[in-house]
Amino acid sequence: MILSLKNLSKTYSNGVKALDNINIDIHAGMFGLLGPNGAGKSTLMRTIATLQAPDSGNIHLDGLDILNNKMEFRKTLGYLPQEFGVYPNMSAHDLLHYFATLKGITNTSERKAIVDKALEVTNLSDVRKKHVAGYSGGMKQRFGIAQLLLNNPKLIIVDEPTAGLDPAERHRFLNVLREIGTNHIVIFSTHIVDDVKELCTSMAILNGGQILCQSTPSQLVQELDGKVWQTTASRDQVELLQKQYNVISSSFNDANDLNVRVYSDTLPGEGFVPAQASLEDVYFTTLNQHEEVPTPQIA
Ligand code: ADP
Ligand code: MG
Repeated sequence: MILSLKNLSKTYSNGVKALDNINIDIHAGMFGLLGPNGAGKSTLMRTIATLQAPDSGNIHLDGLDILNNKMEFRKTLGYLPQEFGVYPNMSAHDLLHYFATLKGITNTSERKAIVDKALEVTNLSDVRKKHVAGYSGGMKQRFGIAQLLLNNPKLIIVDEPTAGLDPAERHRFLNVLREIGTNHIVIFSTHIVDDVKELCTSMAILNGGQILCQSTPSQLVQELDGKVWQTTASRDQVELLQKQYNVISSSFNDANDLNVRVYSDTLPGEGFVPAQASLEDVYFTTLNQHEEVPTPQIA
């Protein structure tokens, strides 16, 4: 299975270039699209979901030109948008049966099997009789997955599903995605580095409508190994360090000083020790290399 994006560009009528010549091949498994707000994630996902036409470029799923075969493609697509509408006062069980009927699954026992499976995979069997409108944020997101599983999609697109979930809900949600990720292409967007670290077999960093890098999380971390250094500094010293060195990030430590991480091919200077590279380092250095952004301060 392969989803192939070629030369995708999109400029909105207000002049914002949201997609800037995107070229990428995505294989079966969990693919993480990581980028800050405004990077172009939702635009790219709506474009792949064929809900929004690009200005140029094409997309193929296993050879099928999806932009010119939208109806055929949509039968194989499951899409969970970033903003989801209001749910009616119906139980998850009834609502899924209703959606399955709309999708043309009219045989009662077949429909029951499909709905029960979707509830089971998303861990909602116990609460299937409860109204979806009263679900927590995490349960609603899992219900969104249950719903898109009904037509057994080949390609699943979920746009920032973990934004706003508390840690326990987020964990539960990622586990559900992990379960379905093995048999499908799952494209998952997020601005949370840990989501990608915990879940994804391959990833890309998107910003300014451009793919800045693409690989496996472990490969990207490995490439940075030996180039991350750490030192501690007082608040006043940090500004100076930022002028002198390629500072990746800084975070407060217990002594209310700052742990400062620096990118350098060789030992940057006195007082630095080697640090284990992390995916967060990859993310910040990649964004930094392509744009002058203020150094992030991690709480
Ligand atoms: P992300 O999902 O990564 O936050 P988006 O795809 O939503 O990014 O947005 C990318 C850029 O395009 C942003 O600068 C955003 O303000 C702009 N944008 C998104 N949708 C529209 C629209 N309908 N009209 C004009 N500009 C838009
Ligand atoms: Mg978005």
